[in-house]
Amino acid sequence: MGLTRVPGLLFGGDYNPEQWPEEVWDQDVRLMAEAGVNVVTVAVFSWSRLETAPGVFDFGWLDRILDLLHAHGIAVDLATATATPPPWLVRRHPGLPPVDAAGTRLEFGSRQGYCPSSPVFREGTRRLARAMAERYRDHPALVLWHVGNEYGDHTVECFCEESARDFRRWLQARYGTLDGLNAAWGTSCWGQHYTDWTQLAPPRKAPGPVNPAQVLDWRRFSSDALLACFEAEREVLKEVTPDIPVTTNFMSILHHLDYWKWAAAEDVVSDDAYPDPADPRAAVKAALSYDLMRSLKQQPWLLLESAPGAVSWRAVNVPKEPGVMRLHSLQALAHGSDGVMFFQWRQARYGPEKFHSAMLPHGGTDTRQWRETLALGADVRRLAGVAGSGTRAEVALLLDWESWWGLEAPESLPSDRLRLHALLLSWYAPLHARGIAVDLAPPGRDLSGYKVVIAPNLYLCTAEQAADLAAFPGRLVVGPFSGVVDAADQVHAGGPPGPLRELLGLRVEEFWPIPDGLTQDVLAQDVPAEGAPTPGAPGRGAPGLGGRTLTARTWSEWLELDDAHVLARYRGGPLDGRPAVTRRGAVTYLGCLLDDPSPVLDEVLDAAGVTGVTGAKPPAGVEACRRGDHLFLLNHGAAAATVPLPASGTDLLTGRHLHGSVVIAPRDAVVLKL
Ligand SMILES: [Zn+2]
Repeated sequence: MGLTRVPGLLFGGDYNPEQWPEEVWDQDVRLMAEAGVNVVTVAVFSWSRLETAPGVFDFGWLDRILDLLHAHGIAVDLATATATPPPWLVRRHPGLPPVDAAGTRLEFGSRQGYCPSSPVFREGTRRLARAMAERYRDHPALVLWHVGNEYGDHTVECFCEESARDFRRWLQARYGTLDGLNAAWGTSCWGQHYTDWTQLAPPRKAPGPVNPAQVLDWRRFSSDALLACFEAEREVLKEVTPDIPVTTNFMSILHHLDYWKWAAAEDVVSDDAYPDPADPRAAVKAALSYDLMRSLKQQPWLLLESAPGAVSWRAVNVPKEPGVMRLHSLQALAHGSDGVMFFQWRQARYGPEKFHSAMLPHGGTDTRQWRETLALGADVRRLAGVAGSGTRAEVALLLDWESWWGLEAPESLPSDRLRLHALLLSWYAPLHARGIAVDLAPPGRDLSGYKVVIAPNLYLCTAEQAADLAAFPGRLVVGPFSGVVDAADQVHAGGPPGPLRELLGLRVEEFWPIPDGLTQDVLAQDVPAEGAPTPGAPGRGAPGLGGRTLTARTWSEWLELDDAHVLARYRGGPLDGRPAVTRRGAVTYLGCLLDDPSPVLDEVLDAAGVTGVTGAKPPAGVEACRRGDHLFLLNHGAAAATVPLPASGTDLLTGRHLHGSVVIAPRDAVVLKL
């Protein structure tokens, strides 16, 4: 069963017919059919064109385009059109636009110009969603609901009085009493003891650093407030059209929204992914975010937006070289997407995105872009059998949004250089290079199916989370600055690693962040044998990390060991001779950030018997992914690569039968049906 009732993979993009005279529509649908487009996203920013005055709806144009699309066999991902409230609503309700931390109310004229806590906004979106659902409930083109658009892109939070009232209600529900809140927030510090709920406010711009516990709750509240906007619409849609799946387009790995909570409220996870063609690490960053999307609901997801070429919102917007649109699209499929969709179908002639690329560019059909669009449509049809298949990962990376928010709180930490996305990438990149499938997981998810779990950072770690990790039967790797605070951002009694102390067999006595530009040598010791070998695992006790010099940067810690072995020690510097990397049982701890953690990682993977999907590390630049019985081999490199094949099979892109090995040209790919 696919994500929608459209068979096979979805192929299409955002379509904004209201930006074009109707005589263009016939050409649009004819060219869509030629390209193999089977779904388009419609009406994302159409509120002002659909509800022209309070309760006055004009659905005529939308009726006509939905009928026309359906007549050409094209399904519709129908937006509820609530991403931007219309001018008449904003002018009638001057309190609707969001207010920034300094108290400035933002003007109308862009998008997402709403306060998430505004009752006027939420009531308006429910009214429009109901009108849309009731009008199109039986329309045969409707296959997916698209609520809002890229929540948290522009409006992450709002500091207005309405939001302050909503925040107070949220705090009352969380803490019950002011005593509870005062204790959790540690308001005895800096004279912040609250005696009445009305004294509480968002963490607005203040003379100096604000209470980090207040900021952490504000992050939780702000994610929840936007989620409530989504859920208000979803509730209406589910009431009127219970069988149509509901999604909202995520923005890859976004700091502000707890996507674990959000995904639980969706039927389908979808993502807007815009890797920068000018970034040499674009492929690995995209792979990480795609693996998150697949992991959010542990099922296939949908690449709902991507750029055929250049975007329009970076300082410098580099196009995709020939073949790169196809390669990036295949990469999303390899990581679990059940479709390839773009922003947008026809390139706009006006507005802030008029230079954003499109499947059909300004130049029309006699263009490289259009020819690549046609070719990609044909490739997507060849891969229809991939739809619905899953990925089996033996390695999981832990990602917890609350811990992330605490880790990157402003102006109160030993170092502001620890950034979670970079920490995740530092572990993900070597796994990716080895062709090892990786899931992401929140603390609390059942991890028993994994052989290796890596927690790059768990700054915030509760006793329950620590107990879950202690119960994990496989090999666990924990990164530095973990187990530091509890859910209220208070340092655990006795200091870090708090509830992880017994599991790691050590305590962290002092943090020693490393100043920018400096490094710290770390000398690896021999790895101690772990007792009886695991049945079926390679018989390697001490694979010989010993004698290797590793490089730490940004962060180190003064560790005192209870009953852990030393895998590596600092050499030179203020921590000379002290433990840097340790192990207790099957748990490895790094008290520092290594430039390249591969030597430690490789030893853990080898001991756990984890290999890549091809059985060996692919050549540099080649990405290898297994999805169901399909092996994707993607050459992101600048040179041809010879890749040994683990089994023979048919390349679905060319129809060739392959065995032994295959040579893949730069920016080319093979999808082997095993
Ligand atoms: Zn507000």
